[in-house]
Amino acid sequence: MKKLLGGLNEDQRRAVETTEGPLLVLAGAGTGKTRVITVRTAYLLNAGVLPESILLVTFTNKAAREMRERLTKMVGKEKAERLTCGTFHSFCIRLLREHHEKLDLPKAFGICDGSDQMTAIKGALRELRISEQQVNPRAAQSRISLYKNSCILPNQAIDEAADDWELAVAHCFRKYEDHLRRSCVLDFDDFLLFAMRLLTEHEEVREQLEERYQYVMIDEYQDTNGPQYGITQAIVRGHRNLCVVGDDDQSIYGWRGADISKILGFEKDFPGADKVHLGINYRSTEEIIDAANKVIRNNPKRHEKSLRSALGAGSSIPILRMDDETHEASYIATEIEALVREGANRYGDIAILVRTAQQPRAFEAELRSFDIPYKLIGGMSFFDRKEVRDILSYLRLIANPADETSFLRIANIPARGIGKTTIDKVVTAATESGHGAFSTFRRLVEDGTIGGAAAKGFVSLRESLNVAHAYAQQGDLVFTVTELLNLIEYRAEVDRIYPDDQTRELRWNGVMEILNFAENYQRKEKKPTLTGFLEALTLDESDRKDNDDGDNDSVTLMTLHSAKGLEFRRVYLVGVEEGILPHNRSANEGTIDEERRLMYVGVTRAQHELAITYCAARAKFGKLVPCHPSRFLFEMKEKTPPDDWMAVGTS
Ligand code: ATP
Ligand code: MG
Repeated sequence: MKKLLGGLNEDQRRAVETTEGPLLVLAGAGTGKTRVITVRTAYLLNAGVLPESILLVTFTNKAAREMRERLTKMVGKEKAERLTCGTFHSFCIRLLREHHEKLDLPKAFGICDGSDQMTAIKGALRELRISEQQVNPRAAQSRISLYKNSCILPNQAIDEAADDWELAVAHCFRKYEDHLRRSCVLDFDDFLLFAMRLLTEHEEVREQLEERYQYVMIDEYQDTNGPQYGITQAIVRGHRNLCVVGDDDQSIYGWRGADISKILGFEKDFPGADKVHLGINYRSTEEIIDAANKVIRNNPKRHEKSLRSALGAGSSIPILRMDDETHEASYIATEIEALVREGANRYGDIAILVRTAQQPRAFEAELRSFDIPYKLIGGMSFFDRKEVRDILSYLRLIANPADETSFLRIANIPARGIGKTTIDKVVTAATESGHGAFSTFRRLVEDGTIGGAAAKGFVSLRESLNVAHAYAQQGDLVFTVTELLNLIEYRAEVDRIYPDDQTRELRWNGVMEILNFAENYQRKEKKPTLTGFLEALTLDESDRKDNDDGDNDSVTLMTLHSAKGLEFRRVYLVGVEEGILPHNRSANEGTIDEERRLMYVGVTRAQHELAITYCAARAKFGKLVPCHPSRFLFEMKEKTPPDDWMAVGTS
């Protein structure tokens, strides 16, 4: 025990030793909150608590893996493996697979990921004859997610719509939900909502969980949303052994329904809760903490916290003006190359943090041209590649024949005579009957409504799917995928689409990656199933890349949102301009405070060196547009902007 507590300061130790009853650790970045819940878990285990009784909730799968690794070192593999440690989403999906019949879900219900969501929403808008100019599908997607996370049902959204846009989105929401239910798929928000329903409607399940999980700990509690909060409350209602750690200044998921009032209201939810404040930052130099403090104190509504560095002064923070995004990227790539060559850093020490999904492109190009190894996290993903989505759609359809999005995607890939008219006919009939598109297609072929090439194409597709399904049942996924590729002659399809050899290889490699995953999954899993494989792929999407290359020495290129909880020796915070950070939308949506918290998160990821860049101009729709440095930089320097400076939203 002594050894465990040795690396902690007095406040941290108190948090670890307070094992019974509700406990709130509300403290600034880098003060050891995550370390506290890790050590607290080890402490409980050493005191004789069974690993099965502990539930640890982290914000990403990657964080869960890291926590388990650390615990393995502290308490041994055997105990660490028996802990329940994961995100709310992974916890909920396991619960749903176990109790699917209570919710009228098929055991092999599918998952609707971000890209499927877009397809479904676009389809819904089309059906409603709403153009994408009237309602931007991405905006609709985030609004729908917000509705769901606020537990608002489609009809209620329709009733309460304040204007035409909201009304259109609300109708789209209803169509979208119909589509999900018809397809027997759940989107990410559904995991939480269905789990919530399970716990509310089935008291015996709730009691089971409460009895099992005697100790519940949640990291990054400032970003829990309504359903996550509800699930937590349901599990700890009786014993109240809940320890949450978080920092209201790092709440950055408001757009997904996260609600700061949950952490600030903890003591109201749990009267008499113990509370620990941690004030010493062990991560970053004084210079960095000072900059972070200067920015975040401009937020009006916050819990005042002091934050001191344990590391000493450190070097100053350069704020560099770049000509444009290419200059920015090449400057940083040049510097990284030199730093590593001189031995000042390893690639793995370095992170480049961006605000938007568009920013990585320039960096990727430059890093590649310098031969700098990097990994991209949270940007355009592997799963957005056409070939990968094609094959995944096939696999999903094999696992869950009701999955409409997947079926419609591959119905005519490779071409098999199923044209757009036929598809439209099928979709209309499916919507009317409330059955899935696949079974509707079969019905229309059987009753002769659809004949000719389309019918023939469908029958051949169905045969391929049946054969692959039979292979999948035997549990050999590598074989299943290989045979599927043969059955549908996918290689020929890739060769047909891409005339030049290099692109062909690149595209085919994406397909091969799926095989690699299958191989990996099969090796690790005791009972591999197709559903399990698809689930592992989808759930781990955001942090999949570093699954197996943990030792790889490479620069991390990632969005600020996915950098939460992490730390790097050297951080480049780039594109710190009005319109990027704070983001364009934030001025209209009144979310500048959340952007400021993002800035705070970015700054506090750096341990020793932080450099900030902004561009004087940036290419937009093929034109170079002038940019203005972010207001956060003036706040950091405690300076007022010059007269010709322009804030976002004022142009
Ligand atoms: P964030 O708010 O960014 O999630 P956090 O509060 O969770 O940060 P940790 O990641 O747990 O902070 O800790 C930050 C760093 O400080 C880690 O490298 C951790 O190992 C180190 N650290 C924490 N507590 C101590 C301590 N008492 N002595 C030395 N190092 C510590
Ligand atoms: Mg943390």
